[in-house]
Amino acid sequence: MNPRYLILALLAVLGIAPLVLPPYYVTLLNYIGLYTLVVLGLVLLTGVGGMTSFGQAAFVGLGAYTSAYLTTVPELPGWLAWASASPWLTLLVGLALTGAVALLLGALTLKLSGHYLPLGTIAWGLSLYYLFGTLESLGGHTGVSGLPSISLFGWELNKGEEIYYLIWAVLLCAMLITQNLLDSREGRAIRALRGGQLMAESMGVNTFRSKLVIFLISALFAALSGWLYAHTQRFVNPTPFGLHMGIDYLFMALIGGVASVWGALLGAGTLTMLKQWLQDLLPQLFGSTGNYEVIVFGLIIILLMQRAPGGLWPLLLRLVPDAWKPRKAIKAAELTAELPRRDLPAAGEVLLEARNVTRRFGGLVANNEMNLNLCAGEILALIGPNGAGKSTLFNQLSGVDTPTSGEVLFRGERINGIPSRAIARMGMSRTFQHVKLLPEMSVLENVAIGAHLRGHRGVLSAALRLDRAEEAELLGEARRQLERVGLGDYLHVEAGSLALGQQRILEIARALCANPCLLLLDEPAAGLRHKEKEALCTLLSRLRSEGMAILLVEHDMDFVMGLVDRVVVMEFGQRIAHGLPADVQKDPVVLEAYLGGAE
Ligand code: ADP
Ligand code: MG
Repeated sequence: MNPRYLILALLAVLGIAPLVLPPYYVTLLNYIGLYTLVVLGLVLLTGVGGMTSFGQAAFVGLGAYTSAYLTTVPELPGWLAWASASPWLTLLVGLALTGAVALLLGALTLKLSGHYLPLGTIAWGLSLYYLFGTLESLGGHTGVSGLPSISLFGWELNKGEEIYYLIWAVLLCAMLITQNLLDSREGRAIRALRGGQLMAESMGVNTFRSKLVIFLISALFAALSGWLYAHTQRFVNPTPFGLHMGIDYLFMALIGGVASVWGALLGAGTLTMLKQWLQDLLPQLFGSTGNYEVIVFGLIIILLMQRAPGGLWPLLLRLVPDAWKPRKAIKAAELTAELPRRDLPAAGEVLLEARNVTRRFGGLVANNEMNLNLCAGEILALIGPNGAGKSTLFNQLSGVDTPTSGEVLFRGERINGIPSRAIARMGMSRTFQHVKLLPEMSVLENVAIGAHLRGHRGVLSAALRLDRAEEAELLGEARRQLERVGLGDYLHVEAGSLALGQQRILEIARALCANPCLLLLDEPAAGLRHKEKEALCTLLSRLRSEGMAILLVEHDMDFVMGLVDRVVVMEFGQRIAHGLPADVQKDPVVLEAYLGGAE
């Protein structure tokens, strides 16, 4: 069955629900719609972006209170008077205000790491909540009443079953927008946050900006929900915007399946129905009134998290026959016209140069006055025993770390201290010693992250699906690079299901997608089987013959010796030898330090 029919069936059910259901259930559906809108923001923020927020309820409050205040206060200052004319205008003010607050809070808290971010969201969630309760003009804890209803083309939505249609229309639009966004260049950048900021940044993604974008979108969804809530209830007080509700939203996201748009609906629906049901059932069961539902509810949540840590949506998907599944649109990734390429530098031109690079960690000198240069069309290997300082030097060269002294030049420009995304833009691209990819994302999409810098379409065009032509080009490029490295048969496979050797090759394809003139490879042959090593050797030689410069850090001597043009040997942070592979191999100093010691 085509999943499209399922969606049409759902729309039909939603369309007739208020006509046939008793008002009580329509009200419940309204709440589910309002909650889902907030949870959708958490899917982006927590499920996709990996940031936990307890503070979404405060943004709901911001949207609700702004509209409540502006539509009920008798005398507005002159410059705001226009807004009181209609709730639609107060919605604009509410969204603008929430946007501004979110940007400010985001700028302050999104750089926090570990537990500090969730704690930060609790802090501002609480502050906003108490602000609503304290401000006299917002009615203190009593709140504001007498809000007008929303009217749409002259139709007053003052009954539950009328506003129902607005709530669900808004929600379905928001779900569509979210889905579109996730399936785009910016969406891949956002999903790349989960693969580690280091990876995303070296593919040219401004990770802070990506985080801020999803933070903003999730706050706006929450404010929109608050506005709808305020004009559904026609009354607001601080209670539904407190920390308690912030936690409930997070529960809904987790229960549904935190990384999926449909999980948001499922989570909000399940939690709302469960609470209602427990509230009705338990007092009958125990024969007395009390807050039993909170206790039982807590136990059920614990059980659910134990049994279905990924949420209910993936569980549900497993029960459904394959043919019914909302398959991720498998994109054809047509081979479109090639994206513009940079002119590769002439063979022999010096591309990368380290001059007296020293890096100290406290008393330890990990790199001591290291010198090295690399020309276009050349493969240089950096070898040395464990702890010699290779990875440290690699980090200095790729902009991940800044040398204590000395300088790094790339294409004649000094790059110490420049963020790695800027260096990526200049034409340096890299792979990682410990593979960094998104295991649940397809091979094709993983590689397309590498093409981030070659597109420019932003969040808005993605949400409105105006980015399709560029998207086809980027995916086409990803496919071309995958075919170039020999992974053309695996485009739509989950990246996590590839063998380690193939994952390393995937990283090379991803790096190539950025259109580099220099590739930095950190131990590309580690964990590869003999045949895979041979294939990698052939691939790297071919890239060299096409004019690519390659620097590789490597342990595997045989692999290095047959392939590279020159070798630099390190020990104790210093260069102890350099030259042609054959000469270095015979050098007694090297034999003593490296081959003798390590083998
Ligand atoms: P290699 O990659 O050649 O095995 P590394 O560059 O990883 O070596 O490490 C060189 C030395 O620097 C080691 O002694 C290591 O413990 C030390 N080192 C590396 N990174 C750090 C760090 N961030 N802080 C402190 N010491 C470090
Ligand atoms: Mg290392």
